[in-house]
Amino acid sequence: MGCGIKGFILSVRKARDEDSIVLILSTTEVKTYYRFFGARHSILQLGNLVDFEVEGEGSNFLPRLRSLSHMGFSWLFDKNKLLLWHNFIKKFEPHLKDTHEVESFYFDLLFAAAKRWDKQNPKRIVCENYIALLHHEGRMHDDEHCYICEARIEEEIALMQAFIPAHPKCLYASPLPTKKILDFFRTQKTVFLEDHEVDYLYEIVMKGF
Ligand SMILES: [Zn+2]
Repeated sequence: MGCGIKGFILSVRKARDEDSIVLILSTTEVKTYYRFFGARHSILQLGNLVDFEVEGEGSNFLPRLRSLSHMGFSWLFDKNKLLLWHNFIKKFEPHLKDTHEVESFYFDLLFAAAKRWDKQNPKRIVCENYIALLHHEGRMHDDEHCYICEARIEEEIALMQAFIPAHPKCLYASPLPTKKILDFFRTQKTVFLEDHEVDYLYEIVMKGF
């Protein structure tokens, strides 16, 4: 890695000719950059962690990326793990694209996740990170009442987008054990959850942050 800015590529769009427009999350901001002949650059791909310098800041045109280098992870060669990484990191663009300055929380979260990605089931990492994100943003709904009918939730729970609790019957969704889910909310750990329960939670995260 060089000593420029480090950031994760949240999206890459093709511009005219072979140029690219790239959205990058660094420790301090979410920003759009331009790269001439970016399409020829194998580094410029969704989800990659890159080190770069910037030129043309403050002009009428988008700032340009230069001196690009890539920080690789061993799991990049595992197609399934790479697909899961792409699915996860794609959710950050709609969530952060209208933000400019960000706290390092988001970069740190992705960096820690990337380092763990081959040591654990990535779906568990996604679920644990998403709970951490909801906590960080003050969006946790950890009360035991149904969002739809407002009555108390007993032994079985279902979750809406953003992990909002509801009755399985109110949501027409399959049930999860309430106690385990509330433990997950509190501990932010999935160790007590079965793989099929993690799959259920993962699918909710994939609906969007
Ligand atoms: Zn209900």
